[in-house]
Amino acid sequence: MALEESTLYLVEHFFSIQGEGRYCGVPSVFLRFGGCNLRCPGFGCREVDGKMVYGCDTIRAVYGGLYRKSWHPVTKEQQIESIVAEYENSVTYRPDIVITGGEPMIYASNPVFNAMLEKFAAAGYRVTIETNATIAPSFLEHPFYGGVTFAMAVKLSGSGEPKNRRVVPEAIKALALKGRESFFKFTLDASLAENGGAEQIDEICTGYSNEIYCMPLGSDERELSANAPAVAEFCLKYGYRYSDRLHVRLWNREERR
Ligand code: SF4
Repeated sequence: MALEESTLYLVEHFFSIQGEGRYCGVPSVFLRFGGCNLRCPGFGCREVDGKMVYGCDTIRAVYGGLYRKSWHPVTKEQQIESIVAEYENSVTYRPDIVITGGEPMIYASNPVFNAMLEKFAAAGYRVTIETNATIAPSFLEHPFYGGVTFAMAVKLSGSGEPKNRRVVPEAIKALALKGRESFFKFTLDASLAENGGAEQIDEICTGYSNEIYCMPLGSDERELSANAPAVAEFCLKYGYRYSDRLHVRLWNREERR
């Protein structure tokens, strides 16, 4: 079931190299939208303005209560189109568009969000939506979603979310089967790679032929390098595709800028 955000909030936009998954290395315009239906307490916590918040790597795109003042309300899809056009005008080719968050699919029923995607589809952009795969849009009502690639980052136990919140089989099924070449993208630390990660991935992915990418946890180079060898071994053992985090290697930070 789609959660409905009545106002579409853009947190930030930037032009960079896609650092993860199937389109790793592809120049892309990133549009980061605000809000998320999960919190992922397993990723640690930190204090912001006297409040403890969970440590997801994009907390400023998750916590509306703390950060909404810095988010930009979008009332017309043309606002986003002009952002993309400006980046595109500065190069000699058509970049990919990556929609990320937070969890952008909380806007699956938002008319401005859907008008934006419909325009991108009509213009022939390759669009990837990075999602936790807990919310599916109506493919019947909005057929342009069938041209979107969903990077399905289903959360594993390390996220600290209860299984019934992080694994929503009917949403996974719709995104995996109705999206355009959607793929799975899992994040593991060394401990999960060595203990239990394969069983969890197997349970989520059995029955689907979509590609499966596994990435080491790591918001900086030190953490990434610590987890990478175990995740590479894990991929070799189980036949998954290894995805690095190119932006962390290039710029030693989580943001792909
Ligand atoms: S689902 Fe993603 S964006 Fe949302 S809290 Fe978890 S890691 Fe952060």
